Amino acid sequence: MRDRVRALPGVRFVERCDVDGVVTTPDKTRVTGVRLRSRTDPKADETVAADLVVDTMGRGSRSPRWLADLGYPVPDEKRMRVDVHYSTRLFHREPADLDGCRHVIVGLPPSGRRGGLTLAVEGDRWLVTLVGMLGERPPSDLDGFVEYARTLWSGEVHEVVDRATPIGEGVTGAFHEYVRHCYDRLTAFPDRYVVSGDAVCSLNPVYAQGMSVAISEAQTLGLIVDRHGLDRVGKRFFRQTRQLVNTAWTLATGADLAHPEVQGPRPMPWRVINAYMNRLLPAAHRDPLVADMFLKVNTFVAPPPHLFHPRILAHVLRNGRTPTGREHAEPVRTGQDAQSSP
Ligand SMILES: Cc1cc2nc3c(=O)[nH]c(=O)nc-3n(C[C@H](O)[C@H](O)[C@H](O)COP(=O)(O)OP(=O)(O)OC[C@H]3O[C@@H](n4cnc5c(N)ncnc54)[C@H](O)[C@@H]3O)c2cc1C
Repeated sequence: MRDRVRALPGVRFVERCDVDGVVTTPDKTRVTGVRLRSRTDPKADETVAADLVVDTMGRGSRSPRWLADLGYPVPDEKRMRVDVHYSTRLFHREPADLDGCRHVIVGLPPSGRRGGLTLAVEGDRWLVTLVGMLGERPPSDLDGFVEYARTLWSGEVHEVVDRATPIGEGVTGAFHEYVRHCYDRLTAFPDRYVVSGDAVCSLNPVYAQGMSVAISEAQTLGLIVDRHGLDRVGKRFFRQTRQLVNTAWTLATGADLAHPEVQGPRPMPWRVINAYMNRLLPAAHRDPLVADMFLKVNTFVAPPPHLFHPRILAHVLRNGRTPTGREHAEPVRTGQDAQSSP
């Protein structure tokens, strides 16, 4: 992807440097470029003029500080602590593994703190990630990794790591808290400036939504610029992406709030939806129709109300049973691209 982006006309990569501020018109109403600070050569610092500046600096975005420095209001911030830890290892993959299934997600049950997933990746390999929540830490050493996989409520991930030949060492990572900057509520914002992706909202990666949000936002930005040009682009962008970010935030935090230890608001609509999701997720583990719709909603291909369609509802009532401990349900395995979920 990097090579493809580099090959696009008009694209220049400026490497080993940081953006350390925006430049504006004297009245500070419009952003006109960015200041670049070289990490290796102070003489190479430069200012890049721009018709439009998009902050995609991720969680570490400095836009709130820059806005304050320019005299603008700073967006309200929401945070939610979940303390997620990861451990990932690669294994050799045989075509017959898991009956040819390429993708299994064992989600965290409402009362549990452990989950995992195994994905077929290039080079005939499994990429296996184990997840722990609220301080639970999956080990990266092989023995610990296999033992942790054994404790998941469904057995497919353990089936892979127990038999397959490991490749290389384990790698660990962590995500401590959600952060959302509510740019959509600002009354004043400089022109020709946009903040996007994790810089606006950084979500628990367990639900794999961050890239879908970032890509949908990029598409929306393209449409806005095509349709309206660059004036007031930031305000239009935040208004038009509000629903997308709300949906991602509500789906992900809503699932995490099922854990009594997670601090956050639990209004009545959430309780009803959560009770339903507690049945839907186990159903998705066994039922391809439910699994498919859950993944579509989770990746914003379908809107959330689709989960309540009478046909899905009927399948959920038939197949939904909350996992209480480790069990070996017969998961969805309907061919090469089948997956089981939660
Ligand atoms: C462990 C983990 C697993 C994940 N798994 C998934 C998944 O399966 N599916 C999914 O959709 N999402 C996943 N995500 C989330 C996804 O990675 C993010 O949502 C996505 O990368 C956000 O893209 P972004 O461009 O907004 O920010 P980022 O990808 O964070 O990119 C920001 C970039 O800006 C650079 N930068 C920061 N400050 C400056 C500066 N001052 N000057 C210059 N450069 C700067 C950073 O170095 C970085 O390269 C995962 C996240 C984590 C942490």
